[in-house]
Amino acid sequence: MLTKEQAHAIAQQLKECPFCGLKPTPRIHGAGDKAVNPSARCVTPDCMGAKMPSINLDVPNDVHGWNTRTPPNGAGHRPESQ
Ligand SMILES: [Zn+2]
Repeated sequence: MLTKEQAHAIAQQLKECPFCGLKPTPRIHGAGDKAVNPSARCVTPDCMGAKMPSINLDVPNDVHGWNTRTPPNGAGHRPESQ
């Protein structure tokens, strides 16, 4: 299990939301210094990122997946306008 310090350090490594450009908001709770099921997610209203599952900060694949989830054509590209 991660400590809260470790969970916060991982949360700081998360890249900005690929949809709104804001950092995901961490949810780190637990007794003492233990982080129980630490997670993070975009909390921007109506953002696509906010509709995606939370990032589990103690699951490296989740963190890696978030950090590599960038829009294929860069931020601001709107495929529906083609
Ligand atoms: Zn977002």
